[in-house]
Amino acid sequence: MLTPVELERIRTAIAAEPDAARLLETLRARAEPVLAKEPHIPRVKALLSRDGGVCQDDGATLSFDPWSPEQHRCPRCGKSFSGERHYRNWARAQHLWLAERAAELGLIAALTDDARAGTRAAELLRVYAELYFELPNRDNVLGPSHLFFSTYLESLWLTSYLAAGYLLRETGMLESVELAGIDGVAETAAGLIGEFNEGPSNRQTWHAAALTAIAAWFEDEELAGTAVESRSGLLGHLADGFGADGLWWEGENYHLFALRGLLQGMHWARALGFDLLEHADARTQFRAALLGPSRSALPDFTYPARRDSRYGVSLAQPASLELWEIGRAWLGADAELDVEAVAEQAQCPELRHRVLEARVGKRILGAHVDEAVLAARGVGGDRHRFE
Ligand SMILES: [Zn+2]
Repeated sequence: MLTPVELERIRTAIAAEPDAARLLETLRARAEPVLAKEPHIPRVKALLSRDGGVCQDDGATLSFDPWSPEQHRCPRCGKSFSGERHYRNWARAQHLWLAERAAELGLIAALTDDARAGTRAAELLRVYAELYFELPNRDNVLGPSHLFFSTYLESLWLTSYLAAGYLLRETGMLESVELAGIDGVAETAAGLIGEFNEGPSNRQTWHAAALTAIAAWFEDEELAGTAVESRSGLLGHLADGFGADGLWWEGENYHLFALRGLLQGMHWARALGFDLLEHADARTQFRAALLGPSRSALPDFTYPARRDSRYGVSLAQPASLELWEIGRAWLGADAELDVEAVAEQAQCPELRHRVLEARVGKRILGAHVDEAVLAARGVGGDRHRFE
């Protein structure tokens, strides 16, 4: 989500800066398939099962394709599978994917007054305002949920859903029937998420983010106070969830997940007038959390499989890099943060070696990054220029 002030700033940037205009074009290109063709909306509750979404021959996780609701392909052996179990597993990702698309379309509409984008986003919001109540809150795995089988997935979904609603409402693109529909979802979800407090769990970070989003939607100060400032709220999780080394207490994969939820929540909190980074201690803690994964990454840029983290998962993927980019934008110029992020993005061992060298030697990282090294790795000098 973005506040009206932020939207205005982006509109100005798009008009003046070629980089910002290019970013908008990227966003438009990504949204185009959803505008050209009506996406498939699964009218079923997502199901977690042993065999749904898994190749029956080799156990690999089937690939997610938002445009293929019936055929689910195995990336390992190439076979395709179909059937209700696979479909209801696919529905989990599709519900989340559609909410993200709605938010993206809402952003395009808010930035460019693109009526097509606004209409498609509003359609998605309207359909889900009904579907949410059609799918029963029962047969769950981990907490109450309508669309999914666990509450944290509902929290995740809701932050995107409300982002779309918020952007369209700010730009006057929603009818009263759609606004009432979103109100209904947000109100029910607030009760459902609020009653399932998971304490210090990474999932609770997402609950706190979703409750903050709901507070922003209704401008509910009481709910905002709890969701942002309580022990199991955003501030509590920032202060207690990350250790002195910056890592989330439950392990590396949870670190990235919790950090993402925290960033989402912090952004919503800004719309309510809370700036979690205004205190020096919180900034230091937040910076350590951003740097944590790359500081402990293995030489091949995967993170250690501690606790129940999966083995061999690379940090160099958009979902991880995006966290650094957002955090970097909030914290301002930061040589160490920049070099870590570029090293990951470029999968550049030479650069990473220098980062480690600088750290071990306690030398100030002068950000002396060899342009030739970056060029050899295909990272343009323009995008990553260090002084
Ligand atoms: Zn297979």
